[in-house]
This record gives sequence, C-alpha cells and structure tokens, in this order.
Amino acid sequence: MLRETIRALAETKIAPFAAEVDEEGRFPQEALDALVASDLHAVHVPEEYGGAGADALATVIVIEEVARACASSSLIPAVNKLGSLPVILSGSEELKAKYLGPLAKGDAMFSYALSEPDAGSDAAGMKTKAVRDGDFWVLNGVKRWITNAGVSEFYTVMAVTDPAKRSKGISAFVVEKSDEGVSFGAPEKKLGIKGSPTREVYFDNVRIPADRMIGEEGTGFATAMKTLDHTRITIAAQALGIAQGALDYAKGYVQERKQFGKPIADFQGIQFMLADMAMKLEAARQLTYSAAAKSERVDGDLTFFGAAAKCFASDVAMEVTTDAVQLLGGYGYTRDYPVERMMRDAKITQIYEGTNQVQRIVMARNLP
Ligand SMILES: Cc1cc2nc3c(=O)[nH]c(=O)nc-3n(C[C@H](O)[C@H](O)[C@H](O)COP(=O)(O)OP(=O)(O)OC[C@H]3O[C@@H](n4cnc5c(N)ncnc54)[C@H](O)[C@@H]3O)c2cc1C
Repeated sequence: MLRETIRALAETKIAPFAAEVDEEGRFPQEALDALVASDLHAVHVPEEYGGAGADALATVIVIEEVARACASSSLIPAVNKLGSLPVILSGSEELKAKYLGPLAKGDAMFSYALSEPDAGSDAAGMKTKAVRDGDFWVLNGVKRWITNAGVSEFYTVMAVTDPAKRSKGISAFVVEKSDEGVSFGAPEKKLGIKGSPTREVYFDNVRIPADRMIGEEGTGFATAMKTLDHTRITIAAQALGIAQGALDYAKGYVQERKQFGKPIADFQGIQFMLADMAMKLEAARQLTYSAAAKSERVDGDLTFFGAAAKCFASDVAMEVTTDAVQLLGGYGYTRDYPVERMMRDAKITQIYEGTNQVQRIVMARNLP
C-alpha cells in the first residue's frame, strides 16, 4: 500500500518536473511540497516526536519510489534522515523534542555536515574546530559538499573538540541556519542530481549553547559512523529507484522501436540485456531490504550489510542505467529521453556516504 501511494504521488507530482529540475539545476520545490502534503518528507521520525514512525524498510521504499521518478527529489527524505539520525541515535531528550518536531511537520529540513575540502574518505582528518567558552561552543571551519545546504534549517555538524585525540576528539552539534556566522558557498556545478543543492557551509565564530552538543564530548565521530551504517541503506534505495526508472523506460522503448522490420525487443541480444538488468536489480533489492531489516533490529552485522547494500546497489544502478542508454541507441544519449539523466544521477550513489572503495574497506573490516 505504501509503495502504491508513493508511486502514484511520484508519478503525478514529482516525475513531471524531473527533467526541468535537472535542466535548470533548481531545487525541486514541487516535490518538497507534495512530500510534505502527504507526510512523506521525513517518514523516519518517531511518532513520539510528531513523525510518521516509519521503520527502516518503509523509509527505503519511500526513497526508492521517489528516486524512480527523480533522484534529486529523493534526497529530501534521504537527507532528512541522514541529518537527523545523529540526534535520534545520540541526542538528549531536549534536542530531540526541539529539532525533530519541526522536521516532522515539514517546517524545517536537516542536513549532515561531515566532509571538508581536505577530509573526504579520511573524514577524521577534519579541521573544523569547536572551542568551549563557558556555556557556549564556538565553531570555526568549512564543510564541503553539504547536500541541501542553504535549504535546510538544521545541520548536524562534526567538529574537533580535542585535536590530540583524532577521531575520539570529535564532537557533534546541531547548528541552525540562522545562527550568526553561518553562511554558504555557491552551488556546485554537478554531473547529476542537479536539483539537489550541494554547497559549502562556513562557520565563522558561530557561538551556540552547550546543550546543542549531540551526546557526550568526543562521541561525535562514532555517532557520525553509526549514522552511516543506517543511512547507506537509503543510498542503496536511491540507487534501486534510479535503476528501476531506467529499466522501466527501456523496457517500454524496446517494444516500440522497430529495426529490421520488427520491434527490437524481439532480438535475443536485447532480451538478454534486459534479463541481466532485471536480475541484478532484484539481487540489489533483496540485499537492500535485508540490510534495512538489520538496520531496524540494529543487528551486529549491520555495518557489513549497510556497506554491502550501498556498494552493490550503486554499482548495479550504474550498470543498469548505462545499459538503458545503450538500449535506446542514439536517442538514449539525448536529453529528449530520461535515461541519460538517470545514468548521470546514478554515478553519485557510488561516491557519497563513502565511495565504493571505502565501502569495500568497511566490509573487509567487518566480514560476517
Ligand atoms: C553531490 C555530493 C553530495 C554530498 N553530500 C554530502 C553531505 O551531505 N554531507 C557530507 O558530509 N558529505 C557529502 N558529500 C561528500 C562525500 O561523502 C565525499 O565526496 C566522499 O566521501 C569522498 O570524499 P572526497 O570527495 O574527498 O574523495 P577522496 O577521499 O579524495 O577520494 C578520491 C578517490 O580516492 C579513493 N580513496 C580514498 N581513500 C582510499 C583508500 N584508503 N583506499 C582506496 N581508495 C581510496 C576514493 O574512493 C576516491 O576514488 C557529498 C559529495 C557529493 C559529490
């Protein structure tokens, strides 16, 4: 039922704007409005904080179906979870009450600020600093590649509070867009997900109350990594949706397109390609849903499964979307058809929330 609801919403209210959002590189406001109106913008927020209380699998299905129509728009529910999960996992009751309510209502979005210009895969090498000053912390530094920066009201920000301790000297904070000293860089000009703003966030003597710290001092990096264990599965979901959108389009096209006097779908070479695409996609879906169940139960092997689902599903999405372009021939290479957008959008799923090389490092360290 959930899938039917979200698919109908995505097809009528999100898909019609997907090409325009990509072409113009603009925020998909229509998608945000439609998702908020149906309470699907941040489904993971627990009921006690005014949210829909969706479990990890239901959240995956929402993201998957939005991504099938528009990958940029799927970053609304996905990044709302990414940004707020540190608060849900490790925040005080006061922080949860203060920040999850507006998120659940659709009054505010949440972003996640871990990466920096010189600290990507090696995120613990960050330089953004937070220095204690009485009942306040003062933040200085630059975060890079922050999804939905400028649109989100709230930011989970990881900063160094004790440089001598490396990852154990990093703490997490909630920073608000309206805090004095917060500003944003120009939107990045990207290959894909062009409707999702990616910007730098600058902290210039940003003074925030001490109770904005998420969890204990020095636990921020652990919270950031624990968050990714859960949210990599949402990136897998995004990858599944993009791949499914491309497969569905290609499946229809090959039945219409005629060469050598018959639909190209009649050629076994085409049929084998479609069979492989569907087979790999279904394998990725099963792994992703299984990882989502592990996320919900917080199983001991979640870290492996989160990394495996993200890595496998994103590699499949890249393959399937590339093959979809191939199935459309020259037409697939143009913006008159949606599969080239899907191919460009798929690429990011192999890069963010840890590149697929990093996922392999994570898997190797956590073999089941
Ligand atoms: C569109 C977009 C949105 C993003 N959104 C966010 C966000 O909202 N919040 C956030 O905090 N970050 C975000 N990121 C950042 C993203 O997570 C990083 O770009 C990613 O982790 C890689 O870091 P990097 O770009 O510095 O690459 P690097 O770490 O410099 O990696 C370069 C290459 O080296 C490889 N490599 C690095 N180390 C190793 C190793 N040990 N072994 C093998 N290979 C290695 C990588 O896999 C990659 O191929 C986003 C990025 C993009 C592009």
